[in-house]
Amino acid sequence: AALWKAVPEAPADPILGVAAAFRADPSPNKVNLGVGAYRTEHGKPYVLPVVARVHRELLDDGVDHEYLPMEGYAPFISAAERVILGDAAAALREGRVASVQALSGTGSLRVAFEFLKRFYRPRAGAGDAGSLPKVYVPSPTWSNHRQIVPDAGLGDAVLYRYFNAKTHGVDFSGMCADLRAAPPGSVVLFHGCAHNPTGADPTMEQWVQLLDICKSGSLLPLFDNAYQGFASGDLNRDAASVRLFADAGIDLIITQSFAKNMGLYGERVGCLSVVMSSPCSPEIRTRVLSQLKLVVRPMYSSPPALGAKIAARILGEPGLFAEWNTELQKMSSRIYAMRVALRDRLIANGAPGSWQHVVDQIGMFSFTGLTPQQVAYMVEKHHIYLTSNGRISIAGLNPSNINYVADAMKDAIE
Ligand code: PLP
Repeated sequence: AALWKAVPEAPADPILGVAAAFRADPSPNKVNLGVGAYRTEHGKPYVLPVVARVHRELLDDGVDHEYLPMEGYAPFISAAERVILGDAAAALREGRVASVQALSGTGSLRVAFEFLKRFYRPRAGAGDAGSLPKVYVPSPTWSNHRQIVPDAGLGDAVLYRYFNAKTHGVDFSGMCADLRAAPPGSVVLFHGCAHNPTGADPTMEQWVQLLDICKSGSLLPLFDNAYQGFASGDLNRDAASVRLFADAGIDLIITQSFAKNMGLYGERVGCLSVVMSSPCSPEIRTRVLSQLKLVVRPMYSSPPALGAKIAARILGEPGLFAEWNTELQKMSSRIYAMRVALRDRLIANGAPGSWQHVVDQIGMFSFTGLTPQQVAYMVEKHHIYLTSNGRISIAGLNPSNINYVADAMKDAIE
């Protein structure tokens, strides 16, 4: 035991630590608004019926448990590329996309940054090996981004302004100023839709300007997509930002997670795509793919199979795909209804402030504006668990707890 006596206790994860504290609380009234997973109106985990059925069909068909190749399950990869880029994408038609299936969104990001560390030297010139790129992430962002980037050996991520706490919306001028000042070649991480934790997204007109900034500043955009279809209920609408950039024919990186939109959280179904600028020779794509596989092999050898086979079948069969779209609409409408109900109760109970932002924000979360002290009070006094930045998972609200939560918010603020 003495061998490890100098190992310090790691800090609790800001998000997963909330789940652990919730589990340990014996109160019958406790509410978990920390979890980034969909819950039914009875507060229960949800298995999409189409997912459950395809799972059973695969078992009936005698699905095996052989290894997948390093790059993953081919039908899944091509379907994932199509769902994010669109069936008509020029990048797909022209063979400019190199993709590997990876361990959900997190694993896709990890492989992406590992690849960038090895091969992306933006400022390399004649006789110059070039330096590592800076990686820009929004402030605030999903907390894990700020761990994945340095863990991949790229140094600490640089924050760009993203959120205006006064308007509860995107700080677009701050964002543009920071990105315009980024050194050429920097990587810029964007949330494709349903920004986590703020729930505030740029408008389409603003995305057009951001594309312009990336082009003129020679920035490399990386789109993290954890909520496609889950945000608005419409897969195409939620992919509009990514497609705008991809259709511009520039280099970009895409990561996808099917955790939320298919409810396949623990199955770790994701995809990383390197979209190469036009024109691109098939040899370059082959070489890039070979190096992505060489990142994967010593890291985890090959990705998990079953979830990818379920997702591939749903993405690939029109009837199942339509059923999945209906499910996405159902989940996103329940979330929207909870946003409206929370705002209405906060107005009705006289909680100070204007609560329209709860409805205007999109995706799984609302960035309420509660301070860390108010959050601590919510936990201690009311057994309502949320991250200290005031983010609540709207999916954790339901008709039985919404008034309790809204009234506790009022109590915490006053
Ligand atoms: N990116 C963002 C912005 C997220 O919110 C999440 C999940 O909460 C992820 C990526 C990745 O999640 P997973 O690894 O479970 O797919």
